[in-house]
Amino acid sequence: MGNKIIQGKSTEEWKKQFPLLNRITSMEQLFWVNSRGEKFEDAIKKISLKEEDVKDAEKRLKRFAPYISKVFPETQKEKGIIESPVVKISDMQNNIEKMFHEKVPGRMLLKCDNALAVSGSIKARGGIYEVLKYAENLATQNNMLKETDDYSAFDSHEFRKFFSQYSIAVASTGNLGLSIGIISAKLGFKVYVHMSADARQWKKDLLRSRGVTVIEYKEDYSRAIVEARKQSLLDPNMYFVDDENSRDLFLGYSVAACRLKNQLEKIHVQVDEDHPLFVYLPCGVGGGPGGVAFGLKLVFKDNVHCFFAEPTHSPCMLLGLMTGLHDKICVQDFGIDGITEADGLAVARASKFVGKTMENLISGCYTVEDETLYMLLKSMVDLEDISLEPSALAGISGPVQLFGNESGKKYIEDNNLKNKLNDACHISWATGGSMVPKDIMKSYYERAEDISNKKAFFS
Ligand SMILES: *Cc1c(COP(=O)(O)O)cnc(C)c1O
Repeated sequence: MGNKIIQGKSTEEWKKQFPLLNRITSMEQLFWVNSRGEKFEDAIKKISLKEEDVKDAEKRLKRFAPYISKVFPETQKEKGIIESPVVKISDMQNNIEKMFHEKVPGRMLLKCDNALAVSGSIKARGGIYEVLKYAENLATQNNMLKETDDYSAFDSHEFRKFFSQYSIAVASTGNLGLSIGIISAKLGFKVYVHMSADARQWKKDLLRSRGVTVIEYKEDYSRAIVEARKQSLLDPNMYFVDDENSRDLFLGYSVAACRLKNQLEKIHVQVDEDHPLFVYLPCGVGGGPGGVAFGLKLVFKDNVHCFFAEPTHSPCMLLGLMTGLHDKICVQDFGIDGITEADGLAVARASKFVGKTMENLISGCYTVEDETLYMLLKSMVDLEDISLEPSALAGISGPVQLFGNESGKKYIEDNNLKNKLNDACHISWATGGSMVPKDIMKSYYERAEDISNKKAFFS
C-alpha cells in the first residue's frame, strides 16, 4: 500500500500530515482528541438540526406509546415508552482500573441499551422511530388518522391491510435489521433486510420467523447498502431506511438524551460546570452514537464530553473525522482490513451526514482490540451479571483510555477538568445484547475465557 494514492495524496503524505495514522494503520489501541472540537454555542450554529427537531421526535414517540404498549406487552410497565435503565457499575470500574493499570476518579455508570424492549439494542431507538414516522405520514396523508387520535388504531386489520401495499428496505450488519424488521412486520409492511457477511445467523433466523425477507451477501455492509438502495429505487411504494444519511434515525437516537437527564436527576447525579459528564459510545456508521451525542450536547452543552469507540480493525469514524474526508475514504484505503468480531461496529465507511453534523461537537475517538472486548464481556458477566454482545463493550474502556493516553490527559488539562474529576460521571453506553441467544452468549463467554487463559499464560 506504500504508494497508493488516496484522494490525491500518497499514504506517506497522509501519514506526514496525521502522524497518528501510523498507529491507526498498525491497528493499535489508541486515543484521539478532536482538534475541530468547539464550544457548543459556536458548533450548533453550523448544524441544520435543532432542539425543536428532537422535541418533535419525542412527541411522536409519545403519540405512538399507546400502540407500542399494546403490541409489545413488555413495554406496558413503561406505558409504551421504550427506554433503558442506567445502573452503577463500581465493580467493573475497579476491574478496568486493575486491567489497564489506571485510576478512574468519579463514578461510572452503564446505560443499558442492551435491555431496550422490542429489539434489544440501541437500534430500538432510531430504527423503530423512523418506521413509526413513515407509518404516521402514510396514515395521516390518507386521512386514516389525526395526530390527536389514539394511535392504538395502528393495531388493526384495516391499518395492517393498508400498510401491506407498501414495503421497507434496509441494509444491516444485524441489529438495525432486527429493529426495522420487527416493527415494520408488526405494522403490516412488507420488509426486506439486506444483510452483510458479518451478520449473525440467529439474527437472520429470528427475522425470517417474523415474516421478514432476508437477503444475504458474502461482502461487507457497503455492498448490502448499495443493493438495498437499488431495490428501493425500482419500487415507488418502497421506503429505504438509509443508515448512512437518515435524519430520522439520527433524531430517534437523540431522544435518549432528555430521558437520561431525568434518570440522572432521579439518582442525584449532577451535571454542571463543576460536575462534568463523560460519555463513551460504540460507533459503527455513526448514526446511533452521533444521534445520542447530539441530544446530549443540546441538553448538557459544554458540560458533556462525548467519545466514540471503534474496533482497531474498523476505525472508520476516526479516519473520517481526523482527515475531514468522512465518507470519501474507507478503512481498506489505508490497508486496514475491517474485520472484527464486534459485528455491530463492522463498518468500513462512516456516515458523512453524521461526520459533518458532529465534527465540531465530538470530543474524540478511541479504538479497542477485539480481545479487549471479550475480556470486558467476561468481566461484565462475572462482576455485574450483565450480558452484552461484543460491540457493546467498546464503551467500557473509555475512562481508562482517556486517562491513560497523553492526548486524553491533554484534553483534561485544556478543558480545565483536572480538579473536577472526583465529581465526574462516566457513562459507558451498552449498545446491545439482550436478544443474543443463550448458546451464542455462552460461546462468547468461552471465547473470552480462552483469551484470558492465553493472556495469563504469556504474561
Ligand atoms: C449499530 C450498533 C452500534 C453503532 O451504531 P451506528 O449507528 O452503526 O454507529 C453499536 N453497537 C451495537 C450493538 C450496534 O448494533
